[in-house]
Amino acid sequence: MPKQKFALAVDLGATNIRVAVVNADGKILAHERAATPHEGKSSRVVVDRIIEMAKRVLEKNKTYGKIAGVGIASCGPLDYKKGGANPANLPFDFIPLIEPLKQAFHVPTVLHNDANAAALGEWRFGVGRGKQNIVYVTLSTGIGAGVIVDGHVLFGATGNAAEVGHMTVDTTYNFPCGCGRGVGHWEGYCSGKNMPKFFEHWKKRENKKIDFSARTTKHIFAAAKQKNPVALEFLDVIHRMNARAISNILVAYDPELITIGGSVAHHNGAVILAGIKKYTEHYLKVPPLHITKLGEDIALLGATAAILK
Ligand SMILES: [Zn+2]
Repeated sequence: MPKQKFALAVDLGATNIRVAVVNADGKILAHERAATPHEGKSSRVVVDRIIEMAKRVLEKNKTYGKIAGVGIASCGPLDYKKGGANPANLPFDFIPLIEPLKQAFHVPTVLHNDANAAALGEWRFGVGRGKQNIVYVTLSTGIGAGVIVDGHVLFGATGNAAEVGHMTVDTTYNFPCGCGRGVGHWEGYCSGKNMPKFFEHWKKRENKKIDFSARTTKHIFAAAKQKNPVALEFLDVIHRMNARAISNILVAYDPELITIGGSVAHHNGAVILAGIKKYTEHYLKVPPLHITKLGEDIALLGATAAILK
């Protein structure tokens, strides 16, 4: 029998499910990916797919012996009391996760939202190693964060201690947020999904004529790369908002470093970091800012870290 310990790591996203066997060094030894079901008689189809995938991955890797546990990183919001997810971007009310996976594999099973899991991944396997206070920010379809403070994950009364995407970063445009609960929220301006909508609003308000497509966030960054003056001016507004949010994060959590992931950051890392550095307030000393090097595996690695302590 191998002496090494292995975890089964699950990353449940709105688009894809990934399941992997991972060792204590964060090495992904076997891995499967499938589309997240968006229809079915009940939400049970989601966890049934996870179980099927997990069984196949484990079958292929019998030599690894018994897994130490199942770590799950899931898109949120989560219901930690009931042990499952109420995902905003999936057509199911509640997806049970903990109980069905415990029944299938008879090992300890742990659930974290994907941003908390990513923070754990960076802390254990990335630039956060050896630190006690780090913040992971995801700039993706949405915006969120996971926070490690004084050597533990900051959780909050309902597990939503770092919903930083819904911090107010603007009182000029008062643009409504997709959450439906307010205006001026960071995610409403700077997320991959919302940036083009805010661009439309900004363009009309500022009376800008454009000669490029701003249909997607990618198009806007591409125009800025070509030194398009309107795109550059718009991104400067985005940079100020990103920096306002990072300034808030600094004074709230006093981290030793901030690490940023998510598709918007991965594709435009240098521009995003430069923009944040340009406008972040120096009330506290600004710690090192990084774009994570763990890429799309970060949540799987965090799910592993939750099991293999
Ligand atoms: Zn919001």
